[in-house]
Amino acid sequence: MLIDKLSRIAEKLRLSVTDRCNYRCIFCMPNNPIFESENEILKLDEIKRILTIFNDLGIKELKLTGGEPLLREDLQQIVNFASELFEVSLTTNGYFLLEKASSLSSSGLKRVNVSLHSLKEDRYYRITGMRGLEKVLKGLEVAKQQFEQVKINVTLIRGVNEDEIFDFIDFSRRTGYTVRFLEYEPFDGNGGWSLNKVVSAGDVLRIVSSKFTLKPVDRSPHSTSRYFEIKENGVKFGVISSVSQPFCSDCNRVRITSEGIFLPCMYSMKGLNIKEMIRQRRSDEEIKEAIKDIYSNKFEGIIKYVRENKIPEKVIPMYKLGG
Ligand code: SF4
Repeated sequence: MLIDKLSRIAEKLRLSVTDRCNYRCIFCMPNNPIFESENEILKLDEIKRILTIFNDLGIKELKLTGGEPLLREDLQQIVNFASELFEVSLTTNGYFLLEKASSLSSSGLKRVNVSLHSLKEDRYYRITGMRGLEKVLKGLEVAKQQFEQVKINVTLIRGVNEDEIFDFIDFSRRTGYTVRFLEYEPFDGNGGWSLNKVVSAGDVLRIVSSKFTLKPVDRSPHSTSRYFEIKENGVKFGVISSVSQPFCSDCNRVRITSEGIFLPCMYSMKGLNIKEMIRQRRSDEEIKEAIKDIYSNKFEGIIKYVRENKIPEKVIPMYKLGG
C-alpha cells in the first residue's frame, strides 16, 4: 500500500504514454515543444512491468494520458494488458476516436474523457491549433456506442471561452455527454497562466445560477469533480476547482510521465526515475521500496500554495506531466 504522511492512500495512477500531440493547445503546449527522444519514452515491456508493480502496491484505477495517447501505436496492447489489472480510462483530444474507438473498446477500455474547449469552429482552431471540431464530434458519436462513459472536459480561460458555458450545457442536454468545466492551471508550456485568467468553479456556478436552479449532487470520495443537477432540464454537469478550491486533502492520485518519472503530486518538484531503475536492472522489490519512500513524503499539494497565496506561475508543462 502507498500511504503518505497525511494518510492519503494512492489508488489511481495517471500514466502518460507519450509526450507527443497533434494539437497545440494554448494553455498546454509551448510554441516550440521539446519532445523526448524515442528511446527516452517508456517501452511496452517497461510499461507492463511498471503497471504490475503499481498493481501490487494497491493501485486500482488507471488513466492513460499524454500528450495525445491515441498517437501511441501500441496503445491497444497497453490497454489490453492494463485492463487485466485495473479499471482503465483515458483522456484524449478526441481527434482519432473515429478510427480507434472500436479497437480500444474491444481491448478493454471502459471510459473516455474528451477535451473539447469550444463548440465554435474558428475558436476551436484558435485554442487548439487544429481544424478538428467536426471530426471530434463525429468521433464522440462512435465513442458513445463503444464506451460505458464519455465525459467532456472544457478548460475555461477568461476572455477566451467562458461565454460558451450555456452552449456546453445545451450540448450536454442534446447529446447526453456529461460536461465538466475545468479551471485553468499553471501547467502552461508558454508561461501564459495567471490567476486573473482563471474562471473559477464559483464563477461557473454563479453564471449558470443566473438562468437555472441548481441542486448539488453528493461528491464521491477522492473525486476531483463536484456535480450539479439543473432542475429545469435535468442536465448534470461538473466543475473541477483545482486552483480555487483544491481537493488535495483526500487526493488518491499519482502520476508517471511518458519518460518514466514517478510524481506523487502534479506539483512535486522531485520525482523518481523508475525507467532508469528498470534499465539499471534493479529488482521489483528495490523499485517498490523507492516508490513507497518518495510517496510517503508526497507534497501537500496546490492547497499549500493557495493557503500561502503564492501559486507558482510555471511548473512542468501539461504535455510533459500528462494532466
Ligand atoms: S495538487 Fe497534488 S495533492 Fe493536490 S489534488 Fe493535485 S495531485 Fe493531488
